[in-house]
Amino acid sequence: MEICSEKKKALALVRSWNSRGISVGFVPTMGALHRGHMSLVEASLRECDRTVVSIFLNPAQFGENEDFDRYPRRLESDVSLLGRAGVDGVFAPDASEMYPSGFCTWVVQEGLTERLCGASRPDFFRGVCTVVAKLFAIIPADRAYFGRKDLQQSVVIKRMVTDLDIPVDIRVMPIVRESDGLALSSRNRYLIGGQRREATCLHEALMEVRDRFRGGERDVDCLTEALCGRLSRPATAEPEYGEIVAPDTLARPRSASPDAVAVVAALIGGTRLIDNMPLGGELEDIYLPPE
Ligand code: AMP
Repeated sequence: MEICSEKKKALALVRSWNSRGISVGFVPTMGALHRGHMSLVEASLRECDRTVVSIFLNPAQFGENEDFDRYPRRLESDVSLLGRAGVDGVFAPDASEMYPSGFCTWVVQEGLTERLCGASRPDFFRGVCTVVAKLFAIIPADRAYFGRKDLQQSVVIKRMVTDLDIPVDIRVMPIVRESDGLALSSRNRYLIGGQRREATCLHEALMEVRDRFRGGERDVDCLTEALCGRLSRPATAEPEYGEIVAPDTLARPRSASPDAVAVVAALIGGTRLIDNMPLGGELEDIYLPPE
């Protein structure tokens, strides 16, 4: 496995594969890898000849009062996990490699980025779009793998590659969940004591609206009310949003259809968690067995 911290070295490695017609899959991450990340890696290993994973804790997508400083950093164990999984290349630059002195060009997307997570994190998608556009230039892959856990991010990235004519196929993969439904996240480790149990309210709220939809409820107001009500049940939960949206535009539909998605964000004991679930169709999510 090649480990690169320099952009030049990573680009040369991937170009050497591109020029020989070897297909390349790319998985961008911020590290502290868990089984959600590894499901993307496994998809890339299955579908592509070579797989590259980036590990970069991107300062540009954290707000001033967010958790950049305390975000888990575990480069050594991440790299050994990726090596054991059979990954071909790791790109792990430091911040000065990605944002050298004089850096002043940003990728700003309008519309899709202003609602949901963008409402409380105004610079978040500017940071995400900029770093992902740069990563796509450094790792010219055939396919890039994202988790549906970050639904809005995947919609924004798909729009960005279309708008900027970036030649990469975006693959959006199912959410990996603990056995009790909590979506895996690097931030779950912030949950202490009873917060871990309370965090399941996101999944419970999503399952409740899915059940109501199956029972025939199509009224978006009723479904939204049920979603938000369930989300605010635990003592330490502070719901941020609970909405029904169309999967491609993230707009609120007039009435609920099977492909509409319930999306939620909440602070649990101060830890911000997000999750989502389609109202209809087969649930593709992967539930891990109990520990
Ligand atoms: P992050 O390191 O948090 O930036 O996440 C890197 C990628 O892993 C993103 O595309 C996420 O959507 C994806 N991811 C994070 N958690 C999960 C999960 N529980 N299931 C599937 N994919 C996930």
